[in-house]
Amino acid sequence: AHFKEVEIHQIVRDNIDLANYSRPTPVQKNAIPIVLATRDLMACAQTGSGKTAAFLVPILSKMFAGGPPNIPQQGYRRRVQHPLAVILAPTRELAIQIYDESLKFAYRSRVRPCVVYGGADTGQQMRDLDKGCHMIVATPGRLKDMVDRGKISLEYVKYLVLDEADRMLDMGFEPQIRNLVEQNGMPQPPMRQTLMFSATFPKEIQMLAQDFLHDYVFLAV
Ligand code: AMP
Repeated sequence: AHFKEVEIHQIVRDNIDLANYSRPTPVQKNAIPIVLATRDLMACAQTGSGKTAAFLVPILSKMFAGGPPNIPQQGYRRRVQHPLAVILAPTRELAIQIYDESLKFAYRSRVRPCVVYGGADTGQQMRDLDKGCHMIVATPGRLKDMVDRGKISLEYVKYLVLDEADRMLDMGFEPQIRNLVEQNGMPQPPMRQTLMFSATFPKEIQMLAQDFLHDYVFLAV
């Protein structure tokens, strides 16, 4: 298997080479074509499986193919930001890891990723958002805070990822996640493509998948 076998945007392809990823991992090999085909996905995958690139590569590829985002006020200082992609993660550490990976794959593109998480200065994160935000990696509570402050609008979200969904539920984030996804102007399927990654697939995750995903592909690796 090779990354060359799927239709990934040239910028991402170059960045995959720069990252020295020569072969897709099993979750990447299976998930990338599903996401490129605009299907919702429920993937059972462990940490270390390469799941981060499994969602970042196809989402960024589709964002680049869509041309520069045509969004009002994008990037203006002190204005609300309208990310096209939202990635929710349970912890600050995971959010930062995903963000670092997103910088690698968005390198030399017009897409600017941002990261926000709890337990750190909100003012600093808001000033960073002021520089533009097309993709936001976030812990659920801090994203809700940014939405409540009017700093982030979810109105233009096309791609939503819940990473380590089981851990987010274990940590008690379900109310914040439901609030972000079901209220606050977040587009609903089919306007939005949703991907869920979870190490386990208990009843609570099945119910979340039922509520958030539309006609989804189930993948276990
Ligand atoms: P993840 O499961 O997404 O946290 O990825 C685990 C580690 O594997 C990270 O350090 C990635 O940078 C690395 N990685 C992911 N995909 C590949 C790949 N196709 N080839 C080589 N390394 C990879």
